[in-house]
Amino acid sequence: MDHLSKSNTPSLENFWMPFTANRQFKAAPRLLASAEGMYYTDIDGNKVLDGTAGLWCVNAGHGRKRITEAVERQLRTLDFAPTFQMGHPVAFDFAERLAAIAPGGPDARLDRVFFTGSGSESVDTALKIAIAYQRSIGQGTRTRLIGREKGYHGVGFGGISVGGLVNNRRVFPQIPADHMRHTLDIERNAFSKGLPPHGLELAEDLERLVALHGAETIAAVIVEPMSGSAGVILPPKGYLERLRAIADKYGILLIFDEVITGFGRLGTPFATDYFGVVPDLVTTAKGITNGAIPMGAVFASRKVYDGLMNGPEGQIELFHGYTYSGHPVASAAGIATLDIYEEEGLLTRGAGLADTWQDALHSLKGLPHVADIRNLGVVGAVELTSRDGAPGARAYDVFVDCFRKGLLIRVTGDIIALSPPLIIEKEEIEKIVSILGDALKRAQ
Ligand code: PLP
Repeated sequence: MDHLSKSNTPSLENFWMPFTANRQFKAAPRLLASAEGMYYTDIDGNKVLDGTAGLWCVNAGHGRKRITEAVERQLRTLDFAPTFQMGHPVAFDFAERLAAIAPGGPDARLDRVFFTGSGSESVDTALKIAIAYQRSIGQGTRTRLIGREKGYHGVGFGGISVGGLVNNRRVFPQIPADHMRHTLDIERNAFSKGLPPHGLELAEDLERLVALHGAETIAAVIVEPMSGSAGVILPPKGYLERLRAIADKYGILLIFDEVITGFGRLGTPFATDYFGVVPDLVTTAKGITNGAIPMGAVFASRKVYDGLMNGPEGQIELFHGYTYSGHPVASAAGIATLDIYEEEGLLTRGAGLADTWQDALHSLKGLPHVADIRNLGVVGAVELTSRDGAPGARAYDVFVDCFRKGLLIRVTGDIIALSPPLIIEKEEIEKIVSILGDALKRAQ
């Protein structure tokens, strides 16, 4: 690898960075130049252990040649082809491969696949499918959507409407939606290992919203089976089962947003498999191409798909889609990604790592400022107490400190989230905990 020096710092003026304090970042940038396996290298040549799989997406680790080669081959063969009233084999092949591992298990696989370009697009697609499905089966009054406080479903207007993070919502108008309460309850559940024992009753919030709005107005309820972006919030034991039962009782579709949990994060191919609760629609993105090429997919049950296939055959059944739905290069990247996941057992490897991961994370208990530690599969969070009058500042300082010491973590408010590539070894788990632990000891 070429040695990269500070003279390689680009002009920072023009790129308006997403979800970033632009002026703060540009005054003291952190720039990554290359990546291989578990490590990034920054522009000064420092190695940085990837504790976040990029942004919850590089599940097979960085620089996978098989994906590179597939992308290169595909670009040479068919760089782009439309999928509106046209098709190309790669997208169909990829959908078939995805169908074979689709969430739901052998008897109930959600094996109808709608391609998108990102998680946000997957969410808005799933919400629109749900509303269109209800109308198609004669339930046209069902247009309301239910989400949950602290939920993150991307940044489209649909996603922010069902989402529950105030900063993402307060400036923008929304479509009709209501929210169940979130399930974070540190008072009762702090330092639980795995699923928290308390809070099952929060699923009854769906009953409350049905009573408030009328079931006949509600199309779907969407939740992250494990919510990542708000700081790793886990479902209490039995919660998702209860949600499924209530949704069934009232004819409400259940959508799991698996943009983070899809493709092995919990030690099963999907969170749907982990919990054994089968929704009607599952949204994915990120790990679908190992983060290498933007793509997303919505998995739909046959019931939902068939419900929309009932008009005249020459009629477009769903007026929805993207120029890049089933993009050939993204599909080729996705097929190569699935090859890697399957050959290396990465969709289930997390199950074997989960105990080591849990023990390592919980060894941070007792360090300064640590208010809670949460874990599931190969996901973890360390929640810190906030500095007086400066929420988020303490975790941000820990983030910068860790980066300087060679570890990439992610912070939301005062919560540190961890989700390393699923190729991680025990020594790297120990290294994450050691660098993070030292940073916590130094934190003010
Ligand atoms: N849904 C969930 C659960 C997510 O975690 C994310 C991104 O983190 C999204 C949707 C949005 O995905 P994207 O950023 O690809 O639009």
